[in-house]
Amino acid sequence: MDFPDTIFALASGAPPAGIAVIRISGSQGGQVLMRLSGKPLPVPRMATRTRFMRPDAGDKDIVLDDGIAIWFPGPQSFTGEDVVELHIHGGRASIEAVASALSGFEGVRMAEPGEFTRRAFENGKLDLTRAEALADLVSAETEAQRHQAQRQFSGALADRYDGWRQDLVAMLAHVETVVDFADEEIPKDLLEGLDNKILRLKDQITQHIDDNRQGERLRDGFEIAIIGAPNVGKSSLLNALARRDVAIVSETAGTTRDVVELHLNLGGLPVTLADTAGIRDSLDKVEEEGIRRALVRAEGADLRLAVFDAATWPDLNPATVALMMGETIAVFNKGDLADGNLTANAKRSDIKGPLGPVPAFVVSALTGNGFDALLDAIKSAASKGIDVSPGSAPLTRMRHRTALVEALEALDRIETPMRADSPELLAEDLRLAARAVGRITGTVDVEDVLDLIFSEFCIGK
Ligand code: GDP
Repeated sequence: MDFPDTIFALASGAPPAGIAVIRISGSQGGQVLMRLSGKPLPVPRMATRTRFMRPDAGDKDIVLDDGIAIWFPGPQSFTGEDVVELHIHGGRASIEAVASALSGFEGVRMAEPGEFTRRAFENGKLDLTRAEALADLVSAETEAQRHQAQRQFSGALADRYDGWRQDLVAMLAHVETVVDFADEEIPKDLLEGLDNKILRLKDQITQHIDDNRQGERLRDGFEIAIIGAPNVGKSSLLNALARRDVAIVSETAGTTRDVVELHLNLGGLPVTLADTAGIRDSLDKVEEEGIRRALVRAEGADLRLAVFDAATWPDLNPATVALMMGETIAVFNKGDLADGNLTANAKRSDIKGPLGPVPAFVVSALTGNGFDALLDAIKSAASKGIDVSPGSAPLTRMRHRTALVEALEALDRIETPMRADSPELLAEDLRLAARAVGRITGTVDVEDVLDLIFSEFCIGK
């Protein structure tokens, strides 16, 4: 595809830094490099020491920087276009001087966010799942996230979805034969076996999307809400967890003053801990809003830490118990204040949530007692179902899930055993399913159906 503009952008991190890499992509790339260097183009894909000069400076103040140029003539480049990399000194002024020289060329401009990757996609260099993987790779904060993005970038998802789409297109080709050539002699057994194929494919897609959101959870981070009555020690617990063997990635006040978030790297897994407002009945409007948000947070979390004061055992705060829906761990804090028997009881007992018993841990945010066991339990909850083995390629985005659900809906409309009497409807649903799956990788074209028809069935004889 031909784009009129040649684009450039800083490809390396924020200045100042030792080196900055400016990437240029577009038909003018070669021309720009020759003008900046005052020399013919260097050998392709070889780092070449180059003095970059101001193209319009006459004979004074001519040198912009002394660095390295790499010339990647298209289509063997990231974007498929002519690409140039300028490696220069990573100071703000050096970068600005080169950027302003580049902007001075006719038809050359700063790139929009994602524009290089967009061009790579449009030129068929990568599919949409790889483009998304690239974005994930750049923003990965933990080892497990990096691993998942890497797998996706290597094409693990694209291969799977392309395979499904090809299966659908092949089925469609068979059915189209019936539709297009209904008056002619059609092999009787043409549709035979199709319903089994459809059932098998539906099975595979269902299994893939029925994965407890493991890939999405890993990409987005595992959400833990700390809930409990005021003063049970929720904030102290959060701080104590953060001080343990976990690395704090960042600490941000939530969008409200009632939710404080902490992003942790828990054994390679990204975890967001949210300390919510104390749950209690309140007449205060502001506080009420805080509690409402805490409830929403608790509901949406992947795991809840329901915190109680160990000394109150066995009287549990009913508002907190009511929130113990879904995966929950009960935490009895202030274990240092509770007497030994209470502690032992709390440890032994199943705490009954509305959905059944949940595991309980006695800790002290003050002394740090009990945290090893609690952290282990949190880690195993966060990693449950998350498969980082080389063969795993889980669904990682809502966009993919939506498309697959749409494909399944189309396949569900096809009655099994197959309605051989209405091949048009069958073909339409197969086409819709193929389109939906094709949208994930960005391959929406189903016209290749015709090629398949004629290559497989010698109809035109
Ligand atoms: P929150 O309102 O649930 O966030 O509770 P805080 O974390 O603010 O704690 C309330 C009070 O309990 C504070 O005075 C803390 O110092 C105290 N506290 C918290 N954890 C412990 C603990 O494990 N042992 C003791 N003795 N006091 C604690």
